[in-house]
Amino acid sequence: MKPVPHVGVLAPYALADLPPELTSLAQNESFRPPSPKAVEAARGALSDAHLYPDPDWTALRSVIAAVHGVPEQAVLCGAGSMELIGALAASYLGSTDRMLTTEYAYLYFRTATQLSGAAFDLVGERDLTVDVDALIAAARPETKIVFVANPGNPTGTRIDRDALVRLRDGLAEDVLLVIDEAYGEFSDGAEASTFDLVERGNTMVLRTLSKAYGCAGLRVGWGVFPTAIATELRKVLNPNNVSGVSQSVAAAVMSDQAYMCETVSMTADLRDRFATRLRGVGLKVPVSATNFVLIVFSTDQAAAEADQALRGEGIGMRGMGGYGLPHCLRATIGDAATMDRAAACLERIVGVGR
Ligand SMILES: *Cc1c(COP(=O)(O)O)cnc(C)c1O
Repeated sequence: MKPVPHVGVLAPYALADLPPELTSLAQNESFRPPSPKAVEAARGALSDAHLYPDPDWTALRSVIAAVHGVPEQAVLCGAGSMELIGALAASYLGSTDRMLTTEYAYLYFRTATQLSGAAFDLVGERDLTVDVDALIAAARPETKIVFVANPGNPTGTRIDRDALVRLRDGLAEDVLLVIDEAYGEFSDGAEASTFDLVERGNTMVLRTLSKAYGCAGLRVGWGVFPTAIATELRKVLNPNNVSGVSQSVAAAVMSDQAYMCETVSMTADLRDRFATRLRGVGLKVPVSATNFVLIVFSTDQAAAEADQALRGEGIGMRGMGGYGLPHCLRATIGDAATMDRAAACLERIVGVGR
């Protein structure tokens, strides 16, 4: 039996091949479990497991609206933000349309596009950072959606709000701009949020519980959408997409902003200390606004050797060959002891070559 052609040509999803005995720094999971409020909320929700979940995510949406000052009706929730990315592609990318993003953008943007049978264009980044002018110049009449992860994964770099506004102003009105802020909590408060751009009617902002909130296993993402787009996405989303337990836990952990902010600040401290040590032995580490860093080695072989040495220390980072960055490793920020071990290992092997 043959699948449809645009599925047949896709490569199987490749997770980092990490033996279970390794400590994983490969998936950008939080090193810290979710707020203790999570367990309490889950216990309560489990006794309602005979019921289908709330298709309107009412309690969760009201917490999101209160925390971020966005209208409740503009919020849609997904089984991870990946489901929302997939629903956007399914709703707006036909076989003659094109998606536009940057060369090191989150790979699922491409996968979702391919699953819709559409094509994509990639533009170069500048110094591992999204280049807004290159995106504007590369948009063609067939371009229907532009995806920008800000901060980027796997680069960790961030462009400011002014650059995003310039991008929006430079694109045609009928091009949808999707701003994926999976790591947005790591720079919330640094400048005005981007949620107000949604009022333009052609722009949307995605967030997730998987990173700063430490709930990757729950599969909860959300976004703020223009009304007309939300109406279409609703047709595509599974009406029971987020389980009752996940909705309850997500509402509880988002209500505990103090805990999440503490996670973000602990993570940022560990990240910056780790990056400083690596820069100290001459490794290039772009400034990250996330819970991971990209480590740039001088050659592909140096990255592969570092990966082997780290595995010898029981630590598994993510190789970046799939992103066209075979000379890089991406390191999720783990606990202090793990990051110390990883930094010491890299200092040892990189130091030897100098
Ligand atoms: C982790 C990540 C996501 C996916 O998150 P889920 O909500 O777990 O599906 C989306 N975009 C980027 C850029 C990410 O790094």
